[in-house]
Amino acid sequence: MYQKLGISKEVLHYADKIEASLQERFAEIDKIAEYNQGKVLYAMQKNKVSDIHFAATTGYGYNDLGREVLEQVYADVFGTEDAIVRPQITCGTHALHLALSANLRPGDEMISISGKPYDTLEEVIGIRPSKGSLAEYGVTYRQVDLTREGCFDWSKIKETISPETKLVAIQRSKGYQTRPTLSTEQIGDAIAFVKKIRKDIIVMVDNCYGEFVQKKEPSNFGADMVVGSLIKNPGGGLAPIGGYIAGTRQCIENISYRLSAPGLGKEVGATLGLNQSFFQGLFMAPVVTAGALKGAIYAANIYESLGFDVIPNGTEPRYDIIQAISFGKPQGLIGFCRGIQKAAPVDSYVEPEPWAMPGYDSDVIMAAGAFVQGSSIELSADGPLKPPYAAYFQGGLTWYHAKFGILMTLEELWREKFISFDNPLS
Ligand SMILES: *Cc1c(COP(=O)(O)O)cnc(C)c1O
Repeated sequence: MYQKLGISKEVLHYADKIEASLQERFAEIDKIAEYNQGKVLYAMQKNKVSDIHFAATTGYGYNDLGREVLEQVYADVFGTEDAIVRPQITCGTHALHLALSANLRPGDEMISISGKPYDTLEEVIGIRPSKGSLAEYGVTYRQVDLTREGCFDWSKIKETISPETKLVAIQRSKGYQTRPTLSTEQIGDAIAFVKKIRKDIIVMVDNCYGEFVQKKEPSNFGADMVVGSLIKNPGGGLAPIGGYIAGTRQCIENISYRLSAPGLGKEVGATLGLNQSFFQGLFMAPVVTAGALKGAIYAANIYESLGFDVIPNGTEPRYDIIQAISFGKPQGLIGFCRGIQKAAPVDSYVEPEPWAMPGYDSDVIMAAGAFVQGSSIELSADGPLKPPYAAYFQGGLTWYHAKFGILMTLEELWREKFISFDNPLS
């Protein structure tokens, strides 16, 4: 079948040897998925999920039973008092903006203690001046970078927290930076540290790409809010839109007034028939995330053995599903993305081209052939056309598809003679 799909014997032979060496890692990932599958199932049974909860509501969406139960299931899965999970939350950035803008008031200060936040948050916060930013509403921002080793800088955090500090933000995933991703245990230490300085500081964790990678979530360590996108891990590839915030009753109440309007809060918001996909996607999410994680580890080990820089490396523990591979030359990055595109179930016949995209200072190439537009729990890759010509790879709704994607990138680069399997480490 692989031959039929365009994979050469040489490519398969090389990749199979590496795959055989990963069985122990994969077994560990399966154990975590098994635990998280139980966690999600328990929350669904406890809340008596029933087919009545899959019914569509329209208009105001009053008494949307499915929506209420879904939010309680999320709260139980993340171990929080409450949650808000809505199709009206359009993406991760929107969810993060809601969490911040709903819980900060003019004169308040927020501090990011994990360094520079994800690109799109720069305009949300006003680090890059932007209309409607928190800065325009009088919210000030300070930042404490991680240490060179990628750890929290305890003394700087202590120094920076002031009486005006209302909220501390932590980003779990490295996103598109080269720092390591933070484990939930590390985040737990930071939450305890901040709460010891002042108990009433709200700690928000950008949880994007991290859900279900470990047994525990940052909320299990006392985060007041965990925030993410449903077209990443927790949507399980089935949610066609949406975002979530799980957290304290107070934080979620504030968010509900910001999302709809003061006085309306969680009572409105029709779900238009999407509840079933949200429930079913969450149900699948632990296994889907495990497949993506295996794909990332497989990619790291293969490209590391071929002599490329990979972050994280082949043996490091994993706290998110993103894999960076530095090719050093444009040809490598472009070939890799072509391979990912060729492996897609949708739009496999199109060729991705580098392109000047708004917000980036160099051309960017993107590969995705997804059922849901922009979904990055589905097989996808992208990277800016500038040194070190790194491809950021993530997703794959099944391990087999993630594997096939990587095989296709090898095929592409091997045919172009960018890589060879004779003496790869020399
Ligand atoms: C994806 C992501 C976001 C933003 O999510 P969008 O859905 O792209 O708006 C924010 N933070 C991190 C760490 C992310 O990975």
